Amino acid sequence: MDIRLDDLRTYARCPLEWFWERRAGVPRPRTIASLLPTAIRTGLEFYYQGHADSLATAVNLVWHDWCEGWGEPALARELAQYAAGRAKILDLFSTGRVQRPDGGRYAVPEMTNEYRMRMHSAGLTNLVRSLDEFARTHGLIAPDESNRPGSALGDAFADCMAMAERNAPDLPAPAVVLGWVTPFEADLDNGMRLIGQADLMVRAESEDGAVIVEVHDFEPAPWVRAGLAGRDLRVIAAALAQPSSSQSESAGLSWQRVDHVKFRHWPTGQAFAFRETNTGHLLALAAAIARGMQHHVVIPRAVTGYESCRACAYREHCWGQPGWEVLPLLDAGLLGWAEAHRDAFQRLRQDVANDAALATQMRASVAVLEQALEGLPGSSILASVLQVLEMVD
Ligand code: SF4
Repeated sequence: MDIRLDDLRTYARCPLEWFWERRAGVPRPRTIASLLPTAIRTGLEFYYQGHADSLATAVNLVWHDWCEGWGEPALARELAQYAAGRAKILDLFSTGRVQRPDGGRYAVPEMTNEYRMRMHSAGLTNLVRSLDEFARTHGLIAPDESNRPGSALGDAFADCMAMAERNAPDLPAPAVVLGWVTPFEADLDNGMRLIGQADLMVRAESEDGAVIVEVHDFEPAPWVRAGLAGRDLRVIAAALAQPSSSQSESAGLSWQRVDHVKFRHWPTGQAFAFRETNTGHLLALAAAIARGMQHHVVIPRAVTGYESCRACAYREHCWGQPGWEVLPLLDAGLLGWAEAHRDAFQRLRQDVANDAALATQMRASVAVLEQALEGLPGSSILASVLQVLEMVD
């Protein structure tokens, strides 16, 4: 049985997230948080392909391309202006020129009034507003996102650039990098095979075909413990990495053994090397998660409250109207029904996305049907149709 490592991790984080993406076929909504890893991974590709002389230049190129793709080439200049202004303000905090009243350093300068005031006096307030207005109209910021200091889009750009500069000195030289986003397989010896991707595949110093597999992490944590990184499922799977058996996927890249796995945490620049990993931990988790997937166990993380869902890309789908409570998740029969209707819903979504008049007519029809069927069995299908219409909105 083949399982994608990404699916395993998504299901472990929230079975409903996995359901949206893999079972209901709802494309993962793009969020500002998802721009960071994409920018860094694409930047690494540009850099190692030789299109840029440094990672920072490569990541900047990625953002330029995005701005052009969004039809706003001038946005790239505004992002750079915001990043430069923010760096100057943060520098005041990190060098101790702005301190707490007791002389200590602020742990999170961005949350202070001082930071807001300095943003304002540096003339960045209008820029913040226009950047985030743009992000909101392009669906990158959820409508319920609360007021925050600074710009969410500007911070994503500035963080990307800062990460690229912080991590660049420790990156492997282009001459020893064999591949990026390299597919691999990990045979778990229990009938299961994990399909994963290495962020970087690097030639090890020994001459026996050994490689170093890099796993890149972008969780916005202020620090990472080596013990936790060593238990990361991606790290354990990477230690078992074998070349992909599919010719098209392996792209001719082969290796004999994994010398060690390097876990790189981009936000802090911390990196840990692991030569020994706990395969038993991976086996136990993979087997349990696979059982959950096979038996359609979908318990939404939302049951623990809204805060647990704040960073989730599908938040709007679960917490908007009609909400996750009405989804047919906990009953295997209803889940089967949902899956059987997946293609029909996807077709409906395509049709209404291309035809605003049809979408309007459908909304009116659903409202009439809702009134007529109120409380009757089968009326729940209307909630699903409404969700399709809302996705298009
Ligand atoms: S919003 Fe919450 S319940 Fe819904 S998919 Fe995301 S984490 Fe799961």
